[in-house]
Amino acid sequence: MNYHFKNILAIIPKHGKYEVRKTNVYVTDDIISGIDTPPENFKADRVFEGENKLLSTGLINAHNHAYMSVFRNSADDVIFEEWLFKKILPKEDMLDDEDIYWGTQLSCLEMLKSGTTTFLDMHITKNVVPRAVTDAGMRAVISKGIVGEGRAEYGMKRLSDAKEEMENFRDDPLLTFMFGPHAIYTCDGEYLKIVSEEAKKMGLPIHIHLDESPVEHKEALEKYGKTPTEYLESLGVFENKTICAHCVQLTDSDIDIFAKYNVNVGANPVSNLKLANGIAPIKKMLDKNVNVAIGTDGPGSNNGQNMFREMNFNALIHKGVNHDPVAVSASDTYKCATVNGAKALDVANCGELKIGNKADLFVMDIHQPQFYPRTDLLAALCYSARGTEIETVLVDGKILIDKGEPTTLDTEKIYYYTAKTAEKIHGKN
Ligand SMILES: [Zn+2]
Repeated sequence: MNYHFKNILAIIPKHGKYEVRKTNVYVTDDIISGIDTPPENFKADRVFEGENKLLSTGLINAHNHAYMSVFRNSADDVIFEEWLFKKILPKEDMLDDEDIYWGTQLSCLEMLKSGTTTFLDMHITKNVVPRAVTDAGMRAVISKGIVGEGRAEYGMKRLSDAKEEMENFRDDPLLTFMFGPHAIYTCDGEYLKIVSEEAKKMGLPIHIHLDESPVEHKEALEKYGKTPTEYLESLGVFENKTICAHCVQLTDSDIDIFAKYNVNVGANPVSNLKLANGIAPIKKMLDKNVNVAIGTDGPGSNNGQNMFREMNFNALIHKGVNHDPVAVSASDTYKCATVNGAKALDVANCGELKIGNKADLFVMDIHQPQFYPRTDLLAALCYSARGTEIETVLVDGKILIDKGEPTTLDTEKIYYYTAKTAEKIHGKN
């Protein structure tokens, strides 16, 4: 289908920055085919009137566990180790494929309704998450979370399950894959090397949690005499394209290692605040040209899947901790949530509203109090917007949210099944 976004305010990249200007944007099938002027012989199947609307490239959530929406608001105000080992992991064992399917769809619904078009996921059950995402029509990078010790059977089985899942969905045009060794405290060195070698062989990136909590940092120093980053470097993991989630406790020399190997960061400001793990040194990373993307992390440690909230926190907290009001600007944050995410997730032709890129877009209604008076709309997006103003979302040129409602997802069914799961794992409310 061909779409014309008519006389609309659009966020367009210009010389490494952005300009917001009134223009016309044309979509032909899955591609942005024209800005300002239509491509030759263009005929729109539908025209979107741009009066009081803002058009942007879709947001990219750079670290998530979508199925964990079933843990939302069930494990709050506890310390990280208690949260993970007592509240989350035991209940995770109670989830079956159906629970994970609907939990993932609930996250897809929340992400789409708040303008996210692509996300990077780490999950636990073979085949279910990719199926749920494909049914939603979203773009995603999937990594089955794996843990192991050396060549012990359970770890090798998880690795072969991950490869099998990749094989099963290799023809899906909206899905790509990464290897997802969970963390250095759930995978030993030998296992990380095995996974890393496998990733190299298949030319796939690595997605891992790194240096999230002070305990992880301290234990690595005690056990290996190295920071978690130095430890992964010593194992050769960074010879692969890598995205590390969290990176809260990174030292200055760790950031140099990230810069040296072009390691990507999937920062999770809200989750890190929630679990009191601290605030990642994003300003230092950006100053050293490390590619920083942002994500929500799973709804078990964030409670929401809304990238506008993530952008808001990201733009504010680094000013506060650095005592520097220009530390991470609205423009820097928008970049983290879009083009840096595309780079970190290795998804081609995404993350910017430009001709030839994929038609992953959202339209927002800006005829609302938080956008008046209309001055700097990029600032409004980071500091004033809530995400609830989204009206239309396209992924790969297909309309997935139309007038605020999903076209591929069954809202009531999702609410019904996730409520059933919640009752099973948390008891009756
Ligand atoms: Zn995570």
